[in-house]
Amino acid sequence: LTRKSHPNQTTLVKLSDTVTFGGSDAVVIGGPCAIESRKQMETVAQELSTTPVAALRGGAFKPRTSPHSFQGLGQAGLEILADIRQRYGIPVVTEVMAVAQIETVAAHADMLQVGSRNMQNFDLLKALGQAEKPVLLKRGLAATLDEFLGAAEYILSHGNPNVVLCERGIRSFDTFTRNVLDLGTVVALKQLTHLPVIVDPSHAAGKRELVAPLAKAAIACGADGLIIECHPEPEKSVSDARQALSLSEMATLTRSLQPIAAAV
Ligand code: PEP
Ligand code: MN
Repeated sequence: LTRKSHPNQTTLVKLSDTVTFGGSDAVVIGGPCAIESRKQMETVAQELSTTPVAALRGGAFKPRTSPHSFQGLGQAGLEILADIRQRYGIPVVTEVMAVAQIETVAAHADMLQVGSRNMQNFDLLKALGQAEKPVLLKRGLAATLDEFLGAAEYILSHGNPNVVLCERGIRSFDTFTRNVLDLGTVVALKQLTHLPVIVDPSHAAGKRELVAPLAKAAIACGADGLIIECHPEPEKSVSDARQALSLSEMATLTRSLQPIAAAV
């Protein structure tokens, strides 16, 4: 998604030879909440390869509210992801939940996601400071702007300059939306930091019918990209089914973003 202009003070975070956060293109990451099967990821990669989606997502290690819920395919999921990455030539992003997982996740993915629940896991952040891959740091469930920046600073100060911030909605009193998408903080972060800032409208909205307008608003606010959940059969998603877009909805949405990006 090519933008008209962008402030030059943004640090460029390179995801692959052709995909960079913070530059003239807003980067869209798409894919399911969790990697469920090879066939699922194959379908996602195939369908999204003809859209503006520049990178794929999919969790192998999933931070679930209940220990009885699906916890992700783990190592088998990482292998599926790495295979898709290589065959489709598309960069991939996946979550790392623990220090002990960093080595294998970094060997299979282009970007290491720190989930909201781990935003202040300082041991994890310090260890990611020594990782060789860029980090996607999601805002904590109820983190202030200063706490968010402090978390990023842990990674930077331990040696890894390649951090992308992600606003994904914060807790509030109303449960109609899963979280409140805080676009004011996106604008503030763009003014206060040199780091690229992307938005996750899926975990903010919690409902698929709210995702597209929030994604458009985020691009209009100057976000450097988006991470959006989508699935070949959204209602059958093993996690976060209610917020998953279909692959055709994802294609339609991402194509509709270009005129907005071009105006920013
Ligand atoms: C996710 O990206 O699937 C996820 C668990 O996000 P968050 O950490 O923002 O809840
Ligand atoms: Mn999810």
